[in-house]
Amino acid sequence: MNNRILLSFIFCFIGPLFTGHVSHAQLVDGVAARYQMVLDRLDDLVEKYPDTSEIIELGTNDKDKTIYVLKVTDPKAEETSHQLVVGGHHGNEYGSVEVAMAFAESIAKKPLEGRTVYVLPALNITGYNTNTRREDFIDPNRDYPGPCGSHDTSTSKEPKDDDNKPFQLKSTKLLADFLVEKNISASLTLHTYGNVITYPWSVNYEQITNDHDTFVAMAELGSEKNNYKIGTAADLLYFVAGNFVDYAYWEHGVWAFLFEIGTSHYPSDKSVKEAISLNVPAMRDMLDVAPAERSVSHAYDLTCPKDEDILLNNILRERHPEWHSH
Ligand SMILES: [Zn+2]
Repeated sequence: MNNRILLSFIFCFIGPLFTGHVSHAQLVDGVAARYQMVLDRLDDLVEKYPDTSEIIELGTNDKDKTIYVLKVTDPKAEETSHQLVVGGHHGNEYGSVEVAMAFAESIAKKPLEGRTVYVLPALNITGYNTNTRREDFIDPNRDYPGPCGSHDTSTSKEPKDDDNKPFQLKSTKLLADFLVEKNISASLTLHTYGNVITYPWSVNYEQITNDHDTFVAMAELGSEKNNYKIGTAADLLYFVAGNFVDYAYWEHGVWAFLFEIGTSHYPSDKSVKEAISLNVPAMRDMLDVAPAERSVSHAYDLTCPKDEDILLNNILRERHPEWHSH
């Protein structure tokens, strides 16, 4: 165990002996070192590669914690197109944070030609610090507007009135605004697990975009490096409404892909290394060939699934626990 984590844990349990009680804030601060370690590593990268990289702020989340982004620019290019890599939508998927960090180092060392790439290693800081999927009980990757609404279908709880309301989290709204502010044209979001690369649409079976050939060509290029299956989340895994890929493409025409990395939410160090060696080259190649301009034919003119189809899809998923909670 890393010394800093060890100290945090010791403080968590010994601290209360001195203060008489343990507050929620203390517990949260006690494990906040986990995200701080990511920031320390970003600082090291900028120190090592000052000509290509700098740290910028995305904004503050619902807990007033600042979310940071590493900006990596090709210093030789006069003009660049802007791309985005995001890990840690789900706080328990630390494999995605590690691959994002390794990718950041790779491009800081050798930038992609003619690109500015923003790498956001962990969007869901609260979840990352506490090793939980959701942020403040909300699933960030079901919190975006989408062609068929946004709802968390991964739980069997009774739907609430506000389930379909997007942007319940500040973090997801900040990221959505960032797409506009930076004119992002391509994005890769990283998750664990499943060994697949997905692209829109995620909402219903056998639904392809008007840009299907481009999505497939890019995904195939990545798959040549990581050997992952490619397809839509609905066809390869399950229906998803309100995820980042569909939102970024549907709203803005961003060339958006989602990686389900590896075979576990709790990969060993060895598996993390393997995931890095497979996926960093795949990510580089995909962003290398991504069109510099956004798609202009990104409208959804298909049919959203009926309630009974969603129910059937959920039942199917229940029978495949290996598909759960990506
Ligand atoms: Zn995930």
